[in-house]
Amino acid sequence: MTIRLKKNDNVMVLAGKEKNKIGKIIRINKITNRVYVEKINMIKRHMKPRSSQEPGGIIDKEASINISNVGLYCSKCKKAVRFSLKVDENNDKKKIRICKKCGSEV
Ligand SMILES: [Zn+2]
Repeated sequence: MTIRLKKNDNVMVLAGKEKNKIGKIIRINKITNRVYVEKINMIKRHMKPRSSQEPGGIIDKEASINISNVGLYCSKCKKAVRFSLKVDENNDKKKIRICKKCGSEV
């Protein structure tokens, strides 16, 4: 499977208890096909105290989601959409992604 999502992409969760929530990808693990999305799928983690600045205790932390359960979010369509890749001739041939539904860059 080709992963066409990257860090800082806005994605919508497509399945599971966080379905329909929107967040930004903070980390991708391409080996396990899992993504970490900001403020999505939060879990409680027990931290050991490391210093006086980090006293430890219970913190909230993102747990990973399978990459197939998130989709690139189009802010115009207000949903996860399919997209195609296009080379932007005006911008150093940078690859951009176009929403297949509304045609805007996502
Ligand atoms: Zn769209």
